[in-house]
Amino acid sequence: KRKEVGPEEHAIDPTLVDERALGVVRTLKDAGHEAYIVGGAVRDLLLGLRPKDFDVATNATPEQVKSLFRRAFIIGRRFRIVHVVFGRGREHEVIEVSTFRAYLDSANAEAVSGNERTSKSELAGMHHAVDASGRVLRDNVWGPQEEDAARRDFTINAMYYDPERRIVVDYHGGITDAKKRVLRMIGDPAARYREDPVRIIRAVRFGAKLAALGFKFDPKTKAPLLPSLPLLQEVPQSRLFDEMLKLLQTGHSLATIEQLKTMGMATGIYPLLDLIVERASQPFVRAALQDTDRRVAEDKPVAPSFLLACVLWADVRDGWSRRLDRRMHPFPALQEAIDEVFDARIGDISGRGKLGADMREIWMMQPRFEKRVGHTPFSLVEQPRFRAAFDFMRLRADVGEVDVMLADWWQEFSQASDAVREDLVAALR
Ligand code: ATP
Ligand code: MG
Repeated sequence: KRKEVGPEEHAIDPTLVDERALGVVRTLKDAGHEAYIVGGAVRDLLLGLRPKDFDVATNATPEQVKSLFRRAFIIGRRFRIVHVVFGRGREHEVIEVSTFRAYLDSANAEAVSGNERTSKSELAGMHHAVDASGRVLRDNVWGPQEEDAARRDFTINAMYYDPERRIVVDYHGGITDAKKRVLRMIGDPAARYREDPVRIIRAVRFGAKLAALGFKFDPKTKAPLLPSLPLLQEVPQSRLFDEMLKLLQTGHSLATIEQLKTMGMATGIYPLLDLIVERASQPFVRAALQDTDRRVAEDKPVAPSFLLACVLWADVRDGWSRRLDRRMHPFPALQEAIDEVFDARIGDISGRGKLGADMREIWMMQPRFEKRVGHTPFSLVEQPRFRAAFDFMRLRADVGEVDVMLADWWQEFSQASDAVREDLVAALR
């Protein structure tokens, strides 16, 4: 089944390959290991796109990988992978190196529990490697490349590229599918969704992202998606939350939402996503989604906190004005309204520090834009989250919720020198 394909057939443009990824592969191979660029990066290269990140797969263990690089860190407890780090600060780049893993489906998980390379405690857990519904609960057992390919999701995501020999290794017809523009799950799709229901969301994500390139679902990959939806109930909330964010950050969020609707999946993936789909037609949320898509297209970073702050703003505003009607002071009223929205809509996820904190800050800064006296504007503009809060206010102005003049004033103020800023404040009196 293993197929090796040379440059005349895959036509990968070598200039799209990241220097650092090439270096990592070379170092591993020079040390006598197998090493390839793998997964999404190979898919993107085949499609002529510049991958945004590069993963490397090898038969070396994490310890062996770590020993070959100056700045390498073993991370993850369940899936131990190595981050090889280059550069510092904003420019820094991480190449993720993972060891080929065995494919544990419901049939062979029991057999693998005898694997010598698993520790005692792992052996204890291995007994439960597959639960009653056939989900793989752990898959950190090393294995041959062929199995590493088989455990991956789509045929186009399961190829290996050796950038030195310029050879693509393909076990599942990924090259043909890439050419034919077909999104096809490896193996029996229904069983693969049962094994890991998150693949349902991934199918929607790649379906929407690659639709722009003319991709269509293989019918057998698509048919079980909707019937498998209830399986998502079993998936931990935090994983669903992460996948939902990736789904919204493909650069085609509005198309993705349309896709969900036509597939009958407008609800049922994750409560917060249901809400986003429902609100996507509201001008404010729509503008936020378009803004996210534009940023992805321009290769700018997108903050999920901004998008979620937009989606939940209607609730915050309602709770806030209800409290203002009861004559509460504006700031504590807003604070309480925010707490209420976090409890109702975000739940446990709010415990994930930064994202929630950023949302809070964006909201809490909104009333402060109205106060343009004395030193207030000067300190507001210095806040680390000023830019996000200002962009948020700009969107509110775009939909007529605040005066456009106010947004324009802040735009000018934020870009002006100190002397001009004094004038801008003085001019308001
Ligand atoms: P993107 O460009 O959006 O990052 P990607 O293909 O790189 O897409 P990742 O989530 O970064 O997607 O995963 C990297 C690779 O790991 C995938 O290409 C796929 O081979 C494999 N993979 C990830 N998640 C799963 C999963 N749930 N089931 C099977 N294979 C998976
Ligand atoms: Mg990736």
